[in-house]
Amino acid sequence: MDLISFVIIGLVAGSIYGLAAVGLVLTYKTSGVFNLGHGALAALAAYSFYVLNVQLELSWPIAAAGTVCAVGPAVGLLLELLARRLQGAALPLQIAGVVGILLVVQAGTLLIFGAQEVRRVPSFLPKGRIEIAGTFIQYDDVLTFVIAVVATAGLWAFLRWTRTGIAMKAVVQNPELLELVGHSATRVRRWAWILGTVMASLSGVLLAPIMPLDPVQLTLLVVAAYAAAAIGTFSNLPGTFAGGLVVGVLAALSTRWLTNGILASLPAALPFAILFVVLLFFPKKYLADKTAVRIHPRATWKAPVRLQATGGALVVAFLVTVPLFAGIHLVDWTVAVAMILVFGSLSLLVHTSGQVSLAQIGFMAIGAATFSHLLQGTGMSWPAALLLAGAVAVPIGAVLAVPAIRLGGLYLAIATFGFGIFLQQMFYTQDFMFGAASSGLEVRRPDTMIVDLASDTGYYYLVLAIAVVSVAVVFTLERGRLGRLLTYIKQSPRAAEANGVPAAVTRVLIFCITAFLAAIGGALAASAQQSISADSYAPIISLTVFVIIVLNGPAVPWNAVLAAAAYTLIPSYFPSTEVGTYLQLLFGISAIALVMLPPAQLPVRVTSLVDRWFRRDDRTEPALRTEPVDVEPIEPVVLEVSKVGVTFGGVKALDGADIVCTPGRVTGLIGPNGAGKSTLFNAVTGLVATSGGSVSLGGADLRGKSPSARARAGIGRTFQTVELFESMTVRDNVSVGAEGRTVRLDPITHLRSSKAERDRIRSATESALAACGLEDVADQHVMNLPTGTRRLVEVARCLAGGHTILLLDEPSAGLDHNESARLGELIRRVVDERGIGVILVEHDVSLVLGVSDDVYVLEFGRVIFSGSAADARRSSVVQAAYLGTTEPVDEVQSGRELEEIK
Ligand code: ADP
Ligand code: MG
Repeated sequence: MDLISFVIIGLVAGSIYGLAAVGLVLTYKTSGVFNLGHGALAALAAYSFYVLNVQLELSWPIAAAGTVCAVGPAVGLLLELLARRLQGAALPLQIAGVVGILLVVQAGTLLIFGAQEVRRVPSFLPKGRIEIAGTFIQYDDVLTFVIAVVATAGLWAFLRWTRTGIAMKAVVQNPELLELVGHSATRVRRWAWILGTVMASLSGVLLAPIMPLDPVQLTLLVVAAYAAAAIGTFSNLPGTFAGGLVVGVLAALSTRWLTNGILASLPAALPFAILFVVLLFFPKKYLADKTAVRIHPRATWKAPVRLQATGGALVVAFLVTVPLFAGIHLVDWTVAVAMILVFGSLSLLVHTSGQVSLAQIGFMAIGAATFSHLLQGTGMSWPAALLLAGAVAVPIGAVLAVPAIRLGGLYLAIATFGFGIFLQQMFYTQDFMFGAASSGLEVRRPDTMIVDLASDTGYYYLVLAIAVVSVAVVFTLERGRLGRLLTYIKQSPRAAEANGVPAAVTRVLIFCITAFLAAIGGALAASAQQSISADSYAPIISLTVFVIIVLNGPAVPWNAVLAAAAYTLIPSYFPSTEVGTYLQLLFGISAIALVMLPPAQLPVRVTSLVDRWFRRDDRTEPALRTEPVDVEPIEPVVLEVSKVGVTFGGVKALDGADIVCTPGRVTGLIGPNGAGKSTLFNAVTGLVATSGGSVSLGGADLRGKSPSARARAGIGRTFQTVELFESMTVRDNVSVGAEGRTVRLDPITHLRSSKAERDRIRSATESALAACGLEDVADQHVMNLPTGTRRLVEVARCLAGGHTILLLDEPSAGLDHNESARLGELIRRVVDERGIGVILVEHDVSLVLGVSDDVYVLEFGRVIFSGSAADARRSSVVQAAYLGTTEPVDEVQSGRELEEIK
């Protein structure tokens, strides 16, 4: 075939990708929910078309219209109901919800239509061909392409020119404003879901005659559309459609050129490779995460350690007896115990850190295959091979974490989902992965040592021992520093970084740990079965695995134990071919129910009773007993901001500002709203990119340093809109200030802390609590506190950090007059006692002028006044700046302030 034919094949396939991707992007943009189940909607439509056209023998136009115009919108309406619950839910729950749809559609179609019979939809578009420049082109190809282009163009025109369409674009940015101008945000989103699902349905109908119907294949094919969406930066519709064409053509051309060896597998894997490359290398500003996650915090109750230890001992005792009764199921029990590793690590990732991996089965496959090859091919000992099999997965895990770190958690889910499929398409078929012609691999068990470890029983106990150790490790990690850091990052990445935690390192670390344990789990399970093949590692299973761990709740290791049992033992004891499919259906429905139903919680009466019985030792004693450990003397350094500029899309928020903050002095920074005060803090702490100028601390240039590095260097800050760790207590919030600075780039510092360090953190926390008068509320959860107190918590957190420079952004907003005055005294005292420098941004001008030594006035990003507080009082510029205040809420207050200034 000549080149043109390949291009045409590519364009036709690409137009279907593009069509599907456009629908995906539309719903993502308008609702902030990325529908990973979008491909399942195409599969559903293909089956619907099959039923109408083939089984009910309706003519194809009626079948197509019924599918696209009736089934599609109906499904879209249901999805909108689901999406409404998903908006603002935590990422794992969001993804569990949409993955639930995918599982239900796949399992449902498999159960209704059966897996045996091959079902085909006859080609329905007109037959015939035309010749263009010596190449024959089929009518149906041309028509498919034209339909896809027209549908996309129609949608684009709709968004551009109709009222509803324009509202649809606005709904993400500002739903409240949209309501004000008379649109219902819900109605607009409902339209988006209808249209998005119609697009998916149309692509499903167009795909139906091209391939035999198979829910998994159809779904995965549309995952290729993610690459198109990524090229369109998940927001631009024409770009997305063009991206679909690019993916289609590249994949088609690669089938022509890449026909040998490993590269022959590339065409099928190409869309996922493109997806990954885009996520890794596309400039970040185009790909910002649009999922507006506003997690409604809830205080989670953890069972007392003593109760858990008792329960753990009982479970282990039970597991020890398993070989007595398991009989032929013993190997499955072994696999189940190995799966505890996989689920336990996944729980750390999903529950503790709030990230999502959809490639666990891929990591298991890597572990299992590597393990087998190491045992067969090299003379390596069994334990060494096991560890190495785990280690091989680690760098892969690290690379996969990059999109998440660059772009946000959603992209980790997308990248891992794509990676799982890539792995299957590209490597599962290679001889070096699962053996020649994918015939399967033998996986040896360990040699008999003193006891027979190769027998089913001996091997079971070996795996049980490894699992107990691993669970203990995971449990310790979760309860220890890593668990805490992950919680901070999950609840407020900005606050975590501002307190010195290099969140990227923590994220990579947790992903490496997860990959390692999943690979080990895979190797252990493979060695239980003694032979493995690619079939056991279909990437779609990763979705089930993920949903199971979400369903089993956050309590490590219990969730892992239950998940492993549900995943492995139920199918083992009900050995029908359909039980797996029924389970998939059940998990999918449960995931959707989890989203739709109100969250279940243990009644307080139960938890408090349990606490009373068991919780005696594992509670840190309140402050009273801690001796104040000497706070390390702080070396005074100067913060110099010189000629810094910051631009937001043409608006100069900072225009060459010069400010010096001297140790032992309070530097007041005032200016009207929008003057650039908060932006200055963001520039100093590395949260926004600066254009020109420099920021230096003690003479050292901070350029290129991350926010967390700047915090560790000694710059602490509060935020204008308070950034707290909502579900944590006041004391735990404050301690982050002290703990964050002890975490460095070295991964070990993310895992453990020394006793001396812990003592220092505790005493810094207690003295900061005392300084801010927060002892009485120390054990309360911050989400329940009034704004004024919340601000004080943030100030205390900042104090606990022992920083050399503190940047306080309107700390007195929400405080009453007395509280403000006390805050002023506190700031003064801290500066005098510790010799640190403070920049105080305040609306309360009397407070600023009362406590500051130096005063700067900022307007339109420029310093229009600098001098002593006394000069500022007299300065007409200062007064003018305050006369210029336009914010109506502040008018009364400003009036009073002006009186005082005069
Ligand atoms: P202040 O803290 O003095 O009230 P800000 O520093 O918050 O002022 O804002 C300065 C200017 O920069 C304002 O015009 C504001 O709208 C703009 N601005 C601040 N942050 C952003 C952002 N992330 N994107 C776009 N514009 C911004
Ligand atoms: Mg501000």
